Amino acid sequence: MSFSFPVSASVKSRLEKLGIHSDEDLALHLPLRWEDETHLSLIRDLKPGEPAVVQARVVDAEITYRPRRQLVATVADESGELIIRYLNFYPSQVQALQPGRLFRISGESRGGFFGLEMIHPRCQAVQPETPLPESLTPVYPTTAGLGQASLRKIVQKALDRLELEETLPAKVYEELDFPPYAEAIRQLHHPDPDILLGQLESHAHPAIRRLAFDELLAQQFSLRLARQARAEKQAPALRTNGKLVQDLRASLPFALTKAQEKSWHEISQDLGSTRPMRRLLQGDVGSGKTVVAALACLQCIESGMQAVIMAPTEILAEQHFHKLQTWFESLGVEVAWLASALGASQKKEALARIGKGEAKLAVGTHALFQKGVRFHDLGLVIVDEQHRFGVKQRLALSQKGVEPHQLMMSATPIPRTLAMSYYADLDVSTIDELPPGRKPVITKLVAEGRRDEILQRVRAVCSEGGQAYWVCPLIEESEKVDLQTAMDTHARLQSQLPKLNIGLVHGRMKNAEKQSVMSDFQAGRVHVLVSTTVIEVGVDVPNASLMVIEHAERFGLSQLHQLRGRVGRGARESVCILLYQSPLSEDARSRLRIIYESTDGFEIARQDLLLRGPGELLGSKQSGVPLLRFANPERDKDLLERAARLAPGLIKAHPEQVREHLERWLGTRQHLAFG
Ligand code: ADP
Ligand code: MG
Repeated sequence: MSFSFPVSASVKSRLEKLGIHSDEDLALHLPLRWEDETHLSLIRDLKPGEPAVVQARVVDAEITYRPRRQLVATVADESGELIIRYLNFYPSQVQALQPGRLFRISGESRGGFFGLEMIHPRCQAVQPETPLPESLTPVYPTTAGLGQASLRKIVQKALDRLELEETLPAKVYEELDFPPYAEAIRQLHHPDPDILLGQLESHAHPAIRRLAFDELLAQQFSLRLARQARAEKQAPALRTNGKLVQDLRASLPFALTKAQEKSWHEISQDLGSTRPMRRLLQGDVGSGKTVVAALACLQCIESGMQAVIMAPTEILAEQHFHKLQTWFESLGVEVAWLASALGASQKKEALARIGKGEAKLAVGTHALFQKGVRFHDLGLVIVDEQHRFGVKQRLALSQKGVEPHQLMMSATPIPRTLAMSYYADLDVSTIDELPPGRKPVITKLVAEGRRDEILQRVRAVCSEGGQAYWVCPLIEESEKVDLQTAMDTHARLQSQLPKLNIGLVHGRMKNAEKQSVMSDFQAGRVHVLVSTTVIEVGVDVPNASLMVIEHAERFGLSQLHQLRGRVGRGARESVCILLYQSPLSEDARSRLRIIYESTDGFEIARQDLLLRGPGELLGSKQSGVPLLRFANPERDKDLLERAARLAPGLIKAHPEQVREHLERWLGTRQHLAFG
């Protein structure tokens, strides 16, 4: 697709900057706002601060130099005079403002020293009989070098040429009291003067809701078609008599929760099918996703194939490795660990064991596996903390020829609306209960000045055999500064708490060092673990019952929730202290309030979605996940639900229209196409 009319190369590149590549894209380039130029005002009636259009003749125009160079003209209609003023102007404008010429002048007036004036009004030379526009004038988002007037013309050209064909059966949009597509587009670009602008701007107007609905439908179509295409591919059916799974379950010191059982059942069913599994396993921090993942690995391994678990960080990968190795050792299942810190020969050996199929399970960071590890016979891929990889990477994996089953695990609970929209190509299992006996973590908000009390508390907790995390501030601009604060804090705590053993982990440490500090902490030899945010995800030390987070106001909601989730895992009553520095920004205040008031990850994620939009939760920063432009899954929940319900039927009954709908919405925006 491209433009159906000639567009110069320079304009084209500017349009591309706006994400516009075709006539259809132009039609979907909606105004930021609209101006009412449908009727004229008399100069006498102008009210300062209100936009208006007057029709007046130039009395005189000149360039003045005080206080600075500017073009100043006096214009007049039958009711009075008005001064117009341009601080930036072209010679052509000076030329145009010939005394006696008639102009239509639109802008906001204000009372100036010399009387009423307009700064930088829009001026259009007209004849007395030139008709006024019948609809509101669109003001489009644009980019440097592409003027509003040119952009308007280009959009108009596209609108004149496009058929704006209807892609939905009338029944579908009529039931919602929405206009046909062509009508909605027309109304949005050139609204009737009596339209309820407030409704348009608040996305409550049927025309804008129609577009949000169409966009959500396009997303549903695209993801569901991707899902269908996948269903035609073959995956190995991983069937067993469940011996290894039974053995692991028997060796665990706990029974699975009902929610874990249910999720495990869903996953196990999927694994036994030849349809490649793409399932998201979600649950709150500490809900016990790892053990469910382990069971999935065992089903795969018992059926004779290999499994791999990928984690976003080395610390987490290592933790998984140790946990799984402990669990699997007695079952006689070999686990290989791939870490960047391994020596060349160790790495070679691990790769060889994986390549020959001796290692049944491989664990490592995502980055390592992207470098093309050869498996003997890969049946299952598990991606932990999926949000770190984003939606895009999960496809990169599925494109490697054979189709192993895939299980994604999300650290952050995903609000229902997000799961229904961005994750519509996945099946979702949800662990919606925590293991029994967990005590809720008590959260305290403490102003920076009260450090001494905190030290007191650390002493008290550790003297009773407990342990504490001390998380240092996150300073985005500089890893070095991060590091320095962590080292300073470590030194300070060592002198302030001389009887305690204070450990330090940070991202720049060698893996072996990190590992040894972590295992000292795990074993209780280190009482207080000072760290940068490296412990954010996944770390599991049940004896730790106190979490201190410095500069909590700098952390995101889900990060705080993740960090807090590191405590409250053992029998001890746990406390999370959020140290903050005043004054707090509005945004920081609402984040801290939410984390203080709620311990439910699902609720926190929903609030996060409302506060920050889906980008953060989807990990789009890292992965460039395309975001919806018109629809907001949380705000437009009703439309999302309807789109999800209708999509399968429409795909079946109207495949041609669905294709056209996708073409319109995803056409040149290839990156929007998920499948
Ligand atoms: P997450 O879902 O955050 O990844 P983990 O898998 O790390 O959580 O589990 C958190 C802790 O809970 C681990 O110590 C794990 O062994 C323990 N656990 C998991 N399931 C249960 C259960 N059903 N009963 C008791 N403890 C459990
Ligand atoms: Mg985990």
